[in-house]
Amino acid sequence: MDLEALKSQFIETYGEVPRIFRAPGRVNIIGEHTDHNDGFVLPAAIDKATYVAAAKREDRLIIARSVDLEGEISIDLDDPNAEARADWGKYVQGVAALTEQVGYKLTGADILIASDIPLGAGLSSSAALEVAVGFALRSIAGVEIDRMELAKIGQAAEHKYAGVMSGIMDQFVSAHGQTEHALLLDCRSLEWSAVPLAGASFVLCNTNVKHDLADSEYNRRRMECDAASAILGKSSLRGATLSEVANKDMPNVLRRRARHVVTENARVLNAVAALENNDLGRLGNLINESHNSLRDDFEVSCAELDTMVGIARRHPGVMGSRMIGGGFGGCTINLVEPTARDAFSESIAREYRDETGIEPEIYDVNIGDGVAECI
Ligand code: ADP
Ligand code: MG
Repeated sequence: MDLEALKSQFIETYGEVPRIFRAPGRVNIIGEHTDHNDGFVLPAAIDKATYVAAAKREDRLIIARSVDLEGEISIDLDDPNAEARADWGKYVQGVAALTEQVGYKLTGADILIASDIPLGAGLSSSAALEVAVGFALRSIAGVEIDRMELAKIGQAAEHKYAGVMSGIMDQFVSAHGQTEHALLLDCRSLEWSAVPLAGASFVLCNTNVKHDLADSEYNRRRMECDAASAILGKSSLRGATLSEVANKDMPNVLRRRARHVVTENARVLNAVAALENNDLGRLGNLINESHNSLRDDFEVSCAELDTMVGIARRHPGVMGSRMIGGGFGGCTINLVEPTARDAFSESIAREYRDETGIEPEIYDVNIGDGVAECI
C-alpha cells in the first residue's frame, strides 16, 4: 500500500493531515464452521490489510470515503438509532454506533479507506474494515478499548448492521495477529495462544465463483448444528463426543453436520501439536481431512472448489489443500513448500483454467501482524 499516496489523497479531500491505521485480513488454517459451535479455530493474519486514514472533526459527524468503492458516507454519532445503511457505510456506521452503545465516547472524524485485501474473496475484508475503523475512531478520540473488545464490537456490527451471523474469529485475528504465528482460539472461553508457524507457507487460490447458496446455506448450517446439539442435550456441539454423535437417534443429515464439527475441533488441536513438533506433513494431512469432511459431512463445497483442491493435491510441492470460509465458492488454502510456491501458483492457475474455463486468482500471502497505527 502506498501510504504517501493515501495521505496526499486525504489532504486533498479533507484539507488536513491524517493518522493512518491498518488492520489485516486473515486465513483460517484449520477449524472451519467450528466458531459458531463454541469450538477451536486456528487463523492467522495476513500481510494484506485495510488502511484507514483519519482525522478528528470538531462535531459529531463521521464522514467516510473509500478509494475502493463509490460514495461519501455521513454518520451522525448523535443519531445512534438511524436505520442501517445498505451500502459499505453500514460497517463504519455499525462500528461507530456500537462503540458508543458499549459506553465509549467518540469524536467526529474524517475518514479515507483503502484496502489491498480482495473484497468478498473470503479473506475477511469486512472484519478488517471493522477493526481498522474501530481502532482509528478509538485512537483519534483518545479512548482505550482493548483488542478483544474491538473484535466484539466488529462482530456485533457484522450481526446487526450487515446481517451476517458470523463468529468472532475474523475480527479476533485481525485485532490480535502476530507475524509468523497462527492463533489458537477457543471460541467458548475466548482464551487464545500464539502458535509459531514452523516455516509453514501458504498460497491462497480463489475459484472466482460464488454460488447463490452461500448465505442461505450458511444460516441453514448454523440451524442444523443447533438442532443437533439440542438433540444431544448440549448447549453447543463443542461439548459433544464422536461416540455420542454416532449413537444418538437423530436424522442422518444432522449426524453428519455434528460429526464434521466434532472431528474438526479435534483436527485443530492436532494441527497445533503438529506445528509444535515441526511436522508440516502431518499438518498437511489434517488440512486435507478437513476439506474431505467439509465436502462429505458438512456439504459446503462445490465442484470448482473440489477441482481446485484436486489439482493442488497432485502438485508435488503441496502438503495439504482445502476450501476455506463459508463454502460454495471462494478460496482454497494450500500448504506449500516454500521453494515450490512459484511453480505451484503457475500450474494451479493454468490447470484450473483448463478444467473449468474460469480464470482463478492466486494470492501469495505471508503471515503478518494485527491492527496497528502505521504513521
Ligand atoms: P469478505 O469479508 O469475505 O471480504 P464481505 O462480503 O463480508 O466479504 O465484505 C465485503 C464488503 O465489505 C464489501 O462489499 C464492502 O461493503 C465492505 N468493504 C470491505 N473493504 C472495503 C473497502 N476497502 N472500502 C469500502 N468497503 C469495503
Ligand atoms: Mg466478511
